[in-house]
Amino acid sequence: MPPSDNRAAPAAADTDTPDTGSLIVFDQVVKRFGDLTVLDHLDFSVAPGERVTLIGPSGSGKTTILRLLMTLEKVTEGTILVGGEPFSHMRRGDRLVPASESYLRARRKTIGMVFQQFNLFPNMTVRKNLTEAPVHVLGLGKEEANARAEELLDLVGLSDKIDAHPTQLSGGQQQRVAIARALAMRPEILLLDEVTSALDPELVAGVLDVLRTVAETTDITMLCVTHEMGFARDVSNRVLMFDQGRIAEAGAPEEIFGDPKEERTKAFLRSVL
Ligand code: ADP
Repeated sequence: MPPSDNRAAPAAADTDTPDTGSLIVFDQVVKRFGDLTVLDHLDFSVAPGERVTLIGPSGSGKTTILRLLMTLEKVTEGTILVGGEPFSHMRRGDRLVPASESYLRARRKTIGMVFQQFNLFPNMTVRKNLTEAPVHVLGLGKEEANARAEELLDLVGLSDKIDAHPTQLSGGQQQRVAIARALAMRPEILLLDEVTSALDPELVAGVLDVLRTVAETTDITMLCVTHEMGFARDVSNRVLMFDQGRIAEAGAPEEIFGDPKEERTKAFLRSVL
């Protein structure tokens, strides 16, 4: 395979030196679990406001990329930069030293993640789910946090559920609350990990509609692992097709879905479309 196969679309990443205008840079990132190499010298970058979809067979490393960005995993080799700053290290004077837990917590605040399982706090109302972290982590006043919660519930179409508990909501409604909760932290980056795969088919469309609205009405940078190819086509600026921890092909949705070049991409698309 030529080295250029592991590069993303030319607009955002086709050089060996990290692009300082990018919000997210993966520079020669290797992730291993024991003997298993999950990400293999991965290079890609994401510009501010870009919406990137990660597709590819199960086990190709997509979720690991999101988990690395959430600092739920550490890189084995290579560097991840977010906003030009490395994730694994922090500055002390003019030196870089390994990141402390409190530094990582602060970095994590700028990134929201929505998982396959909704992970709402089950014993709190929807309102409390949305205001807890803004009040306790960002230090927002109750009133401001409440106003933000109301605005976001309106965005996800659930204003009437503000005093409900998660158990009183359908899976699709819970996932819409989870999206609102992530947005309540005003993250710069939103990571979405197969957010519709645990839902009954009739609930998928509502969640995807909400994400379309988020994409259209905010300039939030989105990284999205999905098997919903229609959504990937509609919402993303760029699609990265992964295979065995490398980018097999990258391009605009119309290129990847309309005219894929790589046999692996064609085979994958045949299996999901
Ligand atoms: P994808 O999201 O593309 O399905 P993942 O990133 O979830 O792929 O996983 C890539 C590979 O890494 C899989 O083979 C998975 O079993 C393995 N893996 C992921 N997390 C761990 C872990 N914590 N320990 C061991 N292996 C893991």
